[in-house]
Amino acid sequence: MLFRPRPEMLELTLLHYLHARKKFTYEEEFNYTNLVKGYEGELKSDIWLKGLTEEWLILNHLLLEYNGSTFQIDTLIIAYEKIYLLDVKTFEGDHSIKGDKWYTPSGKPEKNPLHQLERCETLLQRLLQVLGFNIPIESYLIFINPEFHLYTSSNHPTIIFPAQLNRFLKKLNTRPVKLNKKHYQLAEKLNALHIEESPYKRLPLYNYEQLKKGIICPNDKTFFTDETLICKQCGCVEDVEAAVLRSVKEFSLLFPDRKITTNNIYDWCGGVKSKKVIRRVLSKNFKLVGHRTSAHYV
Ligand SMILES: [Zn+2]
Repeated sequence: MLFRPRPEMLELTLLHYLHARKKFTYEEEFNYTNLVKGYEGELKSDIWLKGLTEEWLILNHLLLEYNGSTFQIDTLIIAYEKIYLLDVKTFEGDHSIKGDKWYTPSGKPEKNPLHQLERCETLLQRLLQVLGFNIPIESYLIFINPEFHLYTSSNHPTIIFPAQLNRFLKKLNTRPVKLNKKHYQLAEKLNALHIEESPYKRLPLYNYEQLKKGIICPNDKTFFTDETLICKQCGCVEDVEAAVLRSVKEFSLLFPDRKITTNNIYDWCGGVKSKKVIRRVLSKNFKLVGHRTSAHYV
């Protein structure tokens, strides 16, 4: 049973908005691409885990803390006699291990993901003890991308390769089930301990002036060039109301402190639609509060 579904990642939504309107530095672009890939991998693993017995409790995306150290869990599964900790990786291409070191397809050293997994397991184990649960943990690195291969001279039972995903699930499904009250209590406790991080914390720095203004096509993230709202790129014809409302959503998420006014949204939309049209859409969908210079929509 999916006890805690994977939440929508607001950080990623904000990054998509920013990416369309601002030139990212090399590092920002790298982090953005990694986050997109990571999230896609997690969604893929969610689909894969639909094949898991309904009896178990699945908790996705937990950010927990033990003794001042925070650790993130992609997927945690509570089974009868143990907890499974899954770290989903979207690595692509031929990676290799020499000794304790991991290397990218181009031969550059990379972080050993097993170390991260061990850290996560240790911290979770201690947290569980504090919570009064003495339940063993089994951790796995899940490589979800079929284009991944790892050259290694030794066996790594904690690594599940793309070709092993189905068998791994089958193996899990043959274990005893029947959870009891205690298991549900544990799921509730962990869920309650999840730390909600501000999605704005890790975003690239940005300000209103530097962002490109205009209305963005929902299909390909290019800007509409004139008031017809016909995309020159994909040919889609966008409904005015939908386009303005989408722009308002972007504006208010990127700038939560700025007021929604006809002038502000007109400027944000790059003057593509007239103030009259903007005002009509806003007054139809929002409530006007305050008056004169302080008037804005909520
Ligand atoms: Zn388009």
